[in-house]
Formats: sequence, structure tokens, C-alpha cells
Amino acid sequence: MGLPESMTYKNDRYPYIILTPIGNMNKQIRSIGHKFERGLLSRINEVIADQVKHRSLPLDRLQRYLSVEGNTVLPVSFIKDDTLNPYLIRPELFLWTELTGEDGLPFDKRFLYDTNITHLSSEKLEQHLIEVIKDHLFVAEIAEHSRDYWLTKIAASFDKHPLVQLTQSKRDVIEAVEQMNQSALLSQLKYPEDVAMWRDHVTIVMRPFRTFPKQWFTGRMEMCRHDKQLGFYSTKRTVGCRCDHCDYTVYYHLDSDQVTLQEEFHVERARKRIETIEHQFNEIAAQNKDLTHQIQELINMKGKLRPVQHTLDEALSVARQIERYQEDAAVANAYPLLEMHHKLSCSTLPQRGSESLLIWLSRVELSDVVLFKQLLAWRNQMDDQVNAKAVDLLHQLQVRLDEAEYTEEDIIITIKGHELSYSAVQQVLDLVHYYGTDHPAHTLVQVLAGKSTNKLRRLQLHETRWFGLLAEWPPKHIQRLFNQLEKQGWLMKQRKGYSISDFAEEVM
Ligand SMILES: [Zn+2]
Repeated sequence: MGLPESMTYKNDRYPYIILTPIGNMNKQIRSIGHKFERGLLSRINEVIADQVKHRSLPLDRLQRYLSVEGNTVLPVSFIKDDTLNPYLIRPELFLWTELTGEDGLPFDKRFLYDTNITHLSSEKLEQHLIEVIKDHLFVAEIAEHSRDYWLTKIAASFDKHPLVQLTQSKRDVIEAVEQMNQSALLSQLKYPEDVAMWRDHVTIVMRPFRTFPKQWFTGRMEMCRHDKQLGFYSTKRTVGCRCDHCDYTVYYHLDSDQVTLQEEFHVERARKRIETIEHQFNEIAAQNKDLTHQIQELINMKGKLRPVQHTLDEALSVARQIERYQEDAAVANAYPLLEMHHKLSCSTLPQRGSESLLIWLSRVELSDVVLFKQLLAWRNQMDDQVNAKAVDLLHQLQVRLDEAEYTEEDIIITIKGHELSYSAVQQVLDLVHYYGTDHPAHTLVQVLAGKSTNKLRRLQLHETRWFGLLAEWPPKHIQRLFNQLEKQGWLMKQRKGYSISDFAEEVM
């Protein structure tokens, strides 16, 4: 740490100053200049001497930090011989880093004050120097410990901040309020004006808790895991700890071992408000017994369907396959048991424990609020025959699927009187599968039409099994065929040519 010894120069006339060259490849001072420079150095030296005499400054620590001895307090740098750097060096330049002097001290704005000392009145120069000394003493104090030491201290103090503690202790309620505020269930609650008022309150109540970036509350180690920037404020004896990624800063006070947050709130008020908002919601929920009973009924239904879950999952997948063959048919929703299974599987329906209605309801997620309207129809499905019903349903659907599936001879596309069977379509899709993305559409058309062009011969496409497959078709109808296959979901247009769709892949 500190100034590399090879780069320090002492001058007996200015015992409180250490001189050093600054800037790339500038490693020596041969001359400290003339009348102006000498006058300025004398004034700086005097101000510092005055400070040292009249205030008991902990110079040992500062000298250890700068690696200097004697009376030396501050460095003053030279850009080149005879030319003083008009900006004093910030103490952060030396913090937790080893400067070797091989490349010279960096002339870096981040590590220089922006006050030009050659333009200051005596009074202003004195003020500036007092500040600079104070900064140096503060950073020297910081330097007595490692960066990690301070980060750990700041994290521990953040953890102890009353608002952080409140957030931790009320975490389940805070999360429940946020979730409930977004929940579709709100639209089902009586009375809408009470709900609207509750939501207005949420905006106010949640404000303090929403100022924290999510990642600063990971559960165990508080503060996020991104790299932090530290800033040093000597006047308030404070270290700023900032995460650029989260756009959040806290300020650690050395003397009280406490942090202040980027934005501070009245913590007791925040505590009362979060308790009130939970209470208010529970009162609303208590007036909605019908709804909570219905949710309980859905939970029970889901539980009763569990033993037949695999059968119904399979039935649902068969239903989806049928829907693909018969484009407009809504198969899954035509069977109440299946629709019920589907919608309940997509819903989160936790059992109610001892927690408040707010916390329970915030965890309920329905695939669709229409569920409540279907309850009546579904109730009839839930008897002790449900197992037999599920098995029967799967069987029925499998029969339907067999009927829906194409046979090889089924004509599935007709273009201007030209018919194409399912087996011929499969061959065309095969061609696209192998060559579709390598060649433009018109080349594929030529292959199917059996046009023996030079290009096809060069690519040896005239020797493939698809050559001339649709020789009887006019080429423009073959182009239409591609369009039709795309429209029906068998093909997907690519930048060059086509590829076959997932649906085609599955069916073939
Ligand atoms: Zn962060």
C-alpha cells in the first residue's frame, strides 16, 4: 500500500509534503519549477503545518497508509518537470492496492480531486486542504481492515436495520399481499368497492417494502451477491455500498455501526399498516364464505381425482391428438370429467392450514375463474364410480382416435381436382424433411414434377425417389400444394424452402 518508495521526493523546505511524479512513464522529478510552483508548495506546506499543530491528527495511521515518514501528511504530484499537477490525489488511489511504480502513478480522474489548486484564494485553498486531509485520514482508517471485513460489517448492519427486520418477520404476509393483489380471485370477491379500497391501501402500505431490490432478500445472506462499489464520505464518517446491477445503495456509519437505507421510512407505521392490511383482507374474505367453501370443494375434488390421475392424463393426451385430426372439434372440453381434471391440474389448490385467509387465498391459483360456475356440473361426476368412468372415458377416446386417424388411402388434400392421399402427402413431407431447408421451394417443385434440369442433375436430385412423384400435376399446382400444406400446419416456411412441423413429425 501507499506510494512506491522509488517515486517519492522530499524537499526540506516543504517537510509536510511528499512530492511524486504522476502519469504514464513519468517516474522522476528533476525540477520542482520556479517562483509560482514554489510559492504554492509553501502555502500548502503552511496550511498543513497549521493543521498538524492545532489539531491532534492521527498522523501515524495516515503515514502508514501512504508509506511515508517524518512530518509528511499529503502527496503533491508533478505531471512533468517544472509542472505541478493542479489536482490533488484522492486517497482511494492507494486503497487495498499495491502500486509498483513501474508504470508510474496512473493519471486517472477517478483518483483526483476536481478542484484546481492553482486557481484558489488562500482561504479557499485552506478549506480544500482541510477537506483533503480529512478524506485521507478517513480512508487510512478504512484501510486498517480488508474490503471483505467492511462488506461483512455492512451486510450485518443491513440485516439489523429495523425495516429489514420487519420485512423478514412479515415476509409471508408481504408476499401474500403482493400475490393477492394480482390474483384473479379478487374479481370474485364481495364487495367490489371494499376490494378496490383494499387495493388502494396496498399501494401505500407496500411502498417501503417495494424499495428493496428482490435480490437483497435471498433468504439467508442478506444483500445481493453482485459486486459492490464502495464510496467514502469522511464528513459523515460513512461508507456508501452500492450495487449497480440492483441500482441500490446503503450507507454504513462507522461510529454507530448502523446503515441508513437509500430511502428511509417510519418503521412503526409500516408495521401497523402491514398488520392492518392483512386484517382488512381477512374481513373481506370472511364475508365471502360461499367462495371459500367452493374453493374447499375444488380442493376435495382434486384430492378425489388423484387415484385416477394417470388414466385421465392419458385420456387428455388422446383427446388432444383427436383435436389435431379434427381441427374444429373441442374434444377435451366435451367430457366434463376430462375438463375438470385438466382445469384442476392447472390450478394450485393448497389445503388451508392455520394461517390467515389472506395467506391461504394468496396461494390459491385457478386456471380459470369460470371453474366456480362449473362446480354444479362437476359435482355429479364425483361419485364412487369415478374410477370406472375414467377407464371408460379413456376407452371411448381411443376408439375415436382410431376413427380419426388417417388411413394411407384417405384423400387429405385436393388442389384443383388433383387429389393427394395421406401416403402421398407423407412422401412429400419426407422430401421436405430431407431437402426442404437446403433448397428453395421451386427446386422442390421441380423434383416432384420430374423436371430434369441441369441444376437437378448436378445436385443429383433426379436420382431420388421423389423425382416425378407428381409428374401428372401442373407445376403451379404443386406450388399451391406447398401453400396448402403450410396452411394445414404440416409445413413451416423457412428463409429458404420449408421444414416440417412438430405436428407432422408426431403424426408420421
Ligand atoms: Zn445487486
